[in-house]
Amino acid sequence: MFNFWQRLGGVFLITSIALMIGIFAGTLAGLVFFSLSLLWLVIHHTKHLAALEQWLLISDHTPSSIPPGSGIWDNIFALLARYVRMQNQSKQLINLELKQLQSVTAAMPDGIVILDERGHIEWCDPVAEKHLGINLELDVGHQITNMVRQRSFVEYLTAGKFNKPLILKQMRHHRLTLLMQLVSYGDRQKLLISRDITSYERIEAMRRDFIANVSHELRTPLTVVIGYLEVLTADPDIDEGMRDQALKAMTEQTMRMQHLVEDLLTLSRLENTLNKLSESRVNIAPILHELHREAESLSGGRHTVELNIDSEDQILASREELRSAFSNLISNAIRYTPEGGEIGIRWKVRDKKGLFIVWDTGVGIESEHIPRLTERFYRVDSSRSRETGGTGLGLAIVKHILNRHQARLKIKSAVGKGSEFCIEFPEKRLIKKS
Ligand code: ADP
Repeated sequence: MFNFWQRLGGVFLITSIALMIGIFAGTLAGLVFFSLSLLWLVIHHTKHLAALEQWLLISDHTPSSIPPGSGIWDNIFALLARYVRMQNQSKQLINLELKQLQSVTAAMPDGIVILDERGHIEWCDPVAEKHLGINLELDVGHQITNMVRQRSFVEYLTAGKFNKPLILKQMRHHRLTLLMQLVSYGDRQKLLISRDITSYERIEAMRRDFIANVSHELRTPLTVVIGYLEVLTADPDIDEGMRDQALKAMTEQTMRMQHLVEDLLTLSRLENTLNKLSESRVNIAPILHELHREAESLSGGRHTVELNIDSEDQILASREELRSAFSNLISNAIRYTPEGGEIGIRWKVRDKKGLFIVWDTGVGIESEHIPRLTERFYRVDSSRSRETGGTGLGLAIVKHILNRHQARLKIKSAVGKGSEFCIEFPEKRLIKKS
């Protein structure tokens, strides 16, 4: 109220002066002065109002853009500048918090979608865009079930029982397995959280397959041993020939189980990240001479086994692991090469890389099998593998050993012609013979 009377002070002053002029210089002069003064006041306010209107129309409301004012308008514009400054400060603060929130959500591995009470997309983060094939710009306001069409998801959404998550397999856009969890919040809004569990699923599937494979590998020899034991127990007077046959078969099967258990233990040792590589300078030549002798004895004269050592360079490696990898490849060459075939073992250095090569003129491998050969228990011909004492774990062991040495396995093969397995050691593992 005080302000109102204060603001009217100017009008009172004009009126008083006009009255004085009217008294001393005549009514007409007083009225002229009064009218001119009021006109000046109207022009003054209109000018400032126009400036204010102009300022309101611009988009960038900064304190410095506020027009200059005089009289009462000077005060009004100063107050406006202070208000704008405060607004800008709180806007900056909100922007900063929003940016922080965005960087937190962007760093989260989970996808987040905000849905309204009818399941329409209100917002989602980039991870959810990737998981669910959403394009936020285009799909905002659309039903989430247009993006995620699986029946199980539609049922999950409509059932409204969100205490348990839902696992969705084989999404439309990517072959992902997602763990979806809906959470109700606020005014009947929902938060949809998606987590990529594809790798957990794969590991779980591998674990299941592994247990099934090991059980299967052990069951067959165990069945044979149990069968013979039953025969021997049922007939203590069994003839000697039959008894020897039973003992031979039981010994073979027991050895097969022993090999399997040994290979499994080797694999688990290699997979254990705590089991660090014990490196030393390894001379390749003596190992290969030793393995060559072993190969000839394993072949029993059925093959020609050739050895070529073209380099005296050493390898920085675990001697025991190198020997095991080389031996696996050589024994495979012998086992998968029919009688009369040739096998070659070679060590050379080319393009600053150490190359250990085993080639054979054996059965060969169809190209579609090659990428899978290093998987545990993967066999091209299961019966041939078992007949020759294979466990199906040899190349898996080789792969693990090579990984520990940053080396690579390259396989070339042609069915009926033969195969070549080449281990390529990186330059950093090579020690030049001085
Ligand atoms: P296995 O104990 O069955 O030999 P590996 O892991 O050593 O297991 O080898 C996997 C499969 O790769 C074998 O079952 C075989 O089918 C194929 N394979 C490996 N080496 C050779 C080779 N030199 N020639 C032909 N096939 C091979």
